[in-house]
Amino acid sequence: MEITFLGVGEACDCSYPNTSILLKSDIGRSFLLDCGFTVPHEYFRFCTDPDELDALWISHFHGDHFFGVPLLLLRFWEMGRIKPLQIIGQFCVENKIQAVMDLAYPNFGKKLQYDLEFVNIDFGESLVVSDLGLRTAEISHSQPCLALRLDEGEKSLFYSGDGRPTAATLELAHGCNLVIHEAFKLSDEVPGHGSVRGCLDFCRRAHAYRLALVHLNRQVRREEIDQIRVMIDTASGLDAFLPEPGDVVKL
Ligand SMILES: [Zn+2]
Ligand SMILES: [Zn+2]
Repeated sequence: MEITFLGVGEACDCSYPNTSILLKSDIGRSFLLDCGFTVPHEYFRFCTDPDELDALWISHFHGDHFFGVPLLLLRFWEMGRIKPLQIIGQFCVENKIQAVMDLAYPNFGKKLQYDLEFVNIDFGESLVVSDLGLRTAEISHSQPCLALRLDEGEKSLFYSGDGRPTAATLELAHGCNLVIHEAFKLSDEVPGHGSVRGCLDFCRRAHAYRLALVHLNRQVRREEIDQIRVMIDTASGLDAFLPEPGDVVKL
């Protein structure tokens, strides 16, 4: 499993693109986890084959997690994509994607020469997509958000989307090889958001020892980075890090 951090930023960060993860499975399937405002430009820096992406995961319906979809689909059309694209998310995912497409490029959806295959998944459900096992749990956020666990053989990845850990996400992340978690602040002062301190504790309790902290508040990243580095460098028993856009991790 190969994981590329296309973006690691929060919605308003001018320096860091919106958090989005490109995952390639061992059998060569390609998944994009979230597609916010800034993500298509990052994705197409890497993409030369319009049919490469197999599936798109949308954790929740805030703009920094799905407002990039119209541009992604438009650019695939322009590049001559023919392969169907799976779009996986909460029960309303099809309506949301069609609505955002209609606003961004009215009537354009009808021109797509490739199919969109919408797959619904609810909190606590599981399914198999292209030999990857997907399981979800609800994380605590200002709108319903799916935390995701992906399993391929012995390898496992947890991606929080946005939010603060819950009992359900703790169980979901148990023993994962890599946890990618939203950490908006240093400590848990903002309801519905994760924190650096909270994520370190979460990983210890989940027995998941490798932690990528993403979606940091831009001001926190700018002004409290030294403190964050001390916290993660001294987190005993954990390999916690702050990925940069373009970084690749192999599991
Ligand atoms: Zn967000
Ligand atoms: Zn959000």
